[in-house]
Amino acid sequence: MDESSAYNIRKSFSFFSIADAILLATLFLFLCLLCSCKEAGQQSSAQKAREDDPVTLTDTVMGTVAQATLYGVGKERAGQLLERVKELETECLSGKLDSAEVSAINARVAMADGEGVEISPELYKLLQSCLQISGDSLGAFDVTLGRLCRLWNMDEIASGNARGMVPSDEEIRRAMDHCGFEKLILLGENRILPEPGMALELGSVGKGYALDCLHEMIVRWGSSEDRAGVIALGGSIMTFGEKAPGIPWRVGIKDPDDSGGIIGYLELYGENYISTSGDYERFFEQNGERYHHILDPETGYPARSGLRSVTILAANGFLSDALSTACFVLGAERGMKLADQYGAEVLMVNEEGEILLSDGMREIFHAATP
Ligand code: ADP
Ligand code: MG
Repeated sequence: MDESSAYNIRKSFSFFSIADAILLATLFLFLCLLCSCKEAGQQSSAQKAREDDPVTLTDTVMGTVAQATLYGVGKERAGQLLERVKELETECLSGKLDSAEVSAINARVAMADGEGVEISPELYKLLQSCLQISGDSLGAFDVTLGRLCRLWNMDEIASGNARGMVPSDEEIRRAMDHCGFEKLILLGENRILPEPGMALELGSVGKGYALDCLHEMIVRWGSSEDRAGVIALGGSIMTFGEKAPGIPWRVGIKDPDDSGGIIGYLELYGENYISTSGDYERFFEQNGERYHHILDPETGYPARSGLRSVTILAANGFLSDALSTACFVLGAERGMKLADQYGAEVLMVNEEGEILLSDGMREIFHAATP
């Protein structure tokens, strides 16, 4: 190798080295920029969720007011939660909207063909759970009361679309002929056999069940310590997570005698499901008597069990909602026993205005100071 070729090689080598260095540096810079952008992006969406905190939403769903206060969730996902509740109502649970599966089943059963009906696995599972509560409450809780509920028409009366009027004994008797949980047979493999003429009515569990579906949705988003919130669908409430370290959720218990007032509140941590059934939610008065929307399947009339309201704290939304209705119909003593059987905590307000508490409820209930 002569001098010049050595020079050329060195020169070409050094030229390649400078270009390479510039290229590498540019690449490095570009990568750094990309990473920092990505980090900044991640940070900004996490920050954004925090900056948005809490997201508060109010809407009308399932014939009631839905309210949510959500931390670490962000506006978009918060909106998805209430959309899901609407979807459950319009696609599955409603007995009024033609688009819903329950309405379609009722229409088909009304045709009285006496054939088994195939339903969605979700609804089948829900009905299974309902029938279990019916059995355990000796029929006090019954989702086959559709005909009776339609006759009393409490939803329309409460929303001001109809005038409250006590049906005749004959009308009540005829409606009751098509009610009774033992007339709904689960055949297995998502097939049910309802007695012809019967109608399903899931108003007693819809909101609680919807809370369970929302919880499933939140779990599917993946774990996050930051996520917390309280969602109320009318009288059914779910709490989850911690809004701040050591700070409990406070859930007010309505005063049956004062629509704006509370008798006290529950102090709760983490995940909880609370439902209240009361005679003050939907009712009308005739000749000085109050007729409300929780019916006693034995009489066909609004339940007169000596209670004004029942609040249940249970392991899931379905259970808290179903038990609050069941215990209201059963009354204090039998209601307490049923709730205990399911490991649920109870607060009852009786007609004398006394507050009755299960042992666990006593620890978390704080009476309002007058
Ligand atoms: P709310 O719907 O006000 O939260 P509940 O959860 O107690 O109150 O459910 C009451 C609704 O359940 C009624 O509006 C009616 O549709 C239905 N229902 C009435 N009586 C019964 C009963 N004994 N068992 C099951 N469902 C009932
Ligand atoms: Mg209920």
